Amino acid sequence: MIGKRFDREFILGGKMNSSYTIDDTIAAISTPLGNSGISIIRISGERTFEIIEKIFKPAKASNRGEKTYTIKYGYIVDPLKNQKIDEVLVSFFVKPNTYTRENIAEINCHGGLIIAKEVMETVINNGARLAEPGEFTMRAFINGRVDLPQAEAVIDLINSKTTTARKASLKQLEGKLSGKIKEIRSNLVDVITDIEAAIDFPEYDIEEVSRKNIEERLRYCIVEIEKLSKTYFQGKILKEGIEVAIIGRPNVGKSSLLNALAKKEKAIITDIPGTTRDVIEEFLEIGGIAVKILDTAGLRETTDKIEIAGIEKSKQAIESAELVLFMFDGSEEINNEDKKIIEIIKDKKTIAIINKTDLELKLSLEEVEELLPHRRIIKISAMNEKGLGKIEEEIKELVFSNEINYDNEILITNLRHKRLIDEAKSSLEEAVKLVSNSISIDIVSVVITEATNKIGEITGDTAGEEVIRNIFSKFCIGK
Ligand code: GDP
Repeated sequence: MIGKRFDREFILGGKMNSSYTIDDTIAAISTPLGNSGISIIRISGERTFEIIEKIFKPAKASNRGEKTYTIKYGYIVDPLKNQKIDEVLVSFFVKPNTYTRENIAEINCHGGLIIAKEVMETVINNGARLAEPGEFTMRAFINGRVDLPQAEAVIDLINSKTTTARKASLKQLEGKLSGKIKEIRSNLVDVITDIEAAIDFPEYDIEEVSRKNIEERLRYCIVEIEKLSKTYFQGKILKEGIEVAIIGRPNVGKSSLLNALAKKEKAIITDIPGTTRDVIEEFLEIGGIAVKILDTAGLRETTDKIEIAGIEKSKQAIESAELVLFMFDGSEEINNEDKKIIEIIKDKKTIAIINKTDLELKLSLEEVEELLPHRRIIKISAMNEKGLGKIEEEIKELVFSNEINYDNEILITNLRHKRLIDEAKSSLEEAVKLVSNSISIDIVSVVITEATNKIGEITGDTAGEEVIRNIFSKFCIGK
């Protein structure tokens, strides 16, 4: 069973917060609070149907009972006051084929803060307790229905900002990443088993052959791990998007470009707060990718304190940006101010944007090529919204350039996974070194075990309690 170390004893052994005991029946309002068509109150645990029996009166008395995958119409009634609270539908899910592998009921009541709250209170007063964030999914993990990457995919799916991010999370939820990780781990476990057999039966003189064979098998695992590790750049971009900074001296048209892009592309609704007035951020979806566009304040040399702070912010924005759009004013010659700013960005991936091409061109293209060698040059008019499509193409190319097929490839989108994979890789490289240097085979085995544990931590087989708690604390209540 996946997550086997997190059995009841482990959770109840005083190590986890007492509210995480899984003998309780938990409940939460799973929909956002506020006026809406419906609200859903979800209940999971051993006492679910006992609670429903107390508070739910089906419209037809013959409709009692909890046949799985059925929905019943009726009323939630506070049994103490014998008072109707709302007209509802209740769905029944009988274990084990449920989200948590426990008995689950979902009450669909009318949307509205007071209704959802009163129904919830009735559920709590009759034997459930309020669920912790992510506790339903945590139970799914503890009960072996999902492993950690699948649980993490649930939260990523909920948080996905674009269609491509949604697709990547869904694939992880289906267990594609877990499958690959388990395959690698099982290969390593086989190697350890063989080494231990060789240690246990030293009379078979297979030492030389084994070393070569072990080395080959370790190298194969390293290659597989490397392949996964390399997908992280793309995976991260899919999940979090990329940052593009628009840089240039004042009045070249940076804000005009940002506004034009915001008008043309799909704006992403985000709860990530903008930074300051010095750097304006806009989240757009360009070609399925979430793009955070930063319009930076001028980078002039200045003694003004506020402006110095702005310039510092701009420099930070440039630092974190995956792509810089360096903007020239095409209606003017290149000046020293342009050159100074180019100095700051010269090592970044940059596209040269020549703006105001609706006016007479005064800038020398040769000079642009000299200042920003081997960079794409795109001519635009932010005012007339001309040339924006080329910027979009360039952003897409940056992301999709190396031949990752998003529909088939298993992508690493999570920093936790990436770190563990890289740590496992270093251990395996170390093991290869030890094997080829004829170091004692039991030491090699210890190092391979280290790598195997790291890999197991990804799926949750060997993850510590703090890791688990940390993952689920990022969930919303009711999931
Ligand atoms: P920023 O300081 O770099 O953000 O520049 P702004 O976007 O504020 O633009 C500075 C001035 O240039 C404004 O008066 C804009 O109307 C003008 N401007 C921006 N883009 C264009 C363009 O494509 N063509 C023309 N003719 N004027 C532009």
